[in-house]
Amino acid sequence: MSEHHNHEHKDGFIPKYLLEKLAERGNEDARRTLVQTEKIEKKIEKIKKNRTESNFFLANVSGESKRFIYNSENTPNFKRKLERKEGDLPAQDEVVNIAYDFCGKTLDYFNNKLDRNSIDGQGMDVICNVHFNDDPSEKGLNNAFWVGDQLALGDGDGRTFINLARSIDVVAHEFAHGVTQYVNELIYERQSGALNEHFSDVIGTAVQQYVKGQNAQTADWLIGDEIVGPAWPGKALRSMKAPGTASEIDDQPDHMRDYKNLPLSKDNGGVHIYSGIPNKAFFHVAMDIGTDAAAFLWYTAWHDREIIHPRATFLEAFKAILKAVETLVEKGKLPAKTIDSVKSAFEEVGITSLVHV
Ligand SMILES: [Zn+2]
Repeated sequence: MSEHHNHEHKDGFIPKYLLEKLAERGNEDARRTLVQTEKIEKKIEKIKKNRTESNFFLANVSGESKRFIYNSENTPNFKRKLERKEGDLPAQDEVVNIAYDFCGKTLDYFNNKLDRNSIDGQGMDVICNVHFNDDPSEKGLNNAFWVGDQLALGDGDGRTFINLARSIDVVAHEFAHGVTQYVNELIYERQSGALNEHFSDVIGTAVQQYVKGQNAQTADWLIGDEIVGPAWPGKALRSMKAPGTASEIDDQPDHMRDYKNLPLSKDNGGVHIYSGIPNKAFFHVAMDIGTDAAAFLWYTAWHDREIIHPRATFLEAFKAILKAVETLVEKGKLPAKTIDSVKSAFEEVGITSLVHV
């Protein structure tokens, strides 16, 4: 686990900076969600501080990657009521069953396509809390969280956000934050944080395409399109294919020329803002060699801890991917054209200074 507790990922799936923008436009759901999200983040921080006293982080050690789906019953409590565990027949609650299936599909993807056994690579159990909420008197929570060793999914209020537990890219995205925690501990701020976000989008989209039987050419490359409701001003949270076009408040740039050093108070220095730059590079490579092959390449590069250190930059990520692609091409695991594909994809988004090395 990370030694960098202060930098650990504790943000929700819905970025706070987007909720702030929406609140400024008079959306009351966004204002309420911000207050709730901050309360939950404080609670999460407290749990992490007391982690040695609680059994919060010690329960999932079967080594058999079993699924445990809990019902939070609209409270902010983890592991409140176990509704369905590995091998059980379907539960009464439809959301429990969807979460069970999506956690299973994400585990399958890691097993079959990336040869990884669960979140920690050693068969860690997957714990998922559904109907997670700040307070039973409130409407469904507009957020989803990865908390140290488990997922927590709100139901959405039905207006600005819907179906957070019913979207495979939310479940796979949050799951991937857990994987990053074990693979390279990318610190959740500035460029390393944007790479952390980027990797979760890569896995989120790859698992979604796998589940829906799509490929790079037929996928929409949107993140969060299934969870935005009628009051959301657009079609999704982000677009990997065309950053900045997913909604009226989507300000993701798609090129390094628009990269600025933001204060940490703004989206942890832009972790959800600048993730669009490497996202677009991934999209281009996936279009050339297929999404699964591109995800395998990224996943392989992510293990190169000499280059991808906890504060790695976009340029270092490019360097690690280029090194990985050369090795994988040599071993015959990727087509030779991948080398040029990676170089031109990163050049297109302005991450270029290694191209001629
Ligand atoms: Zn995230």
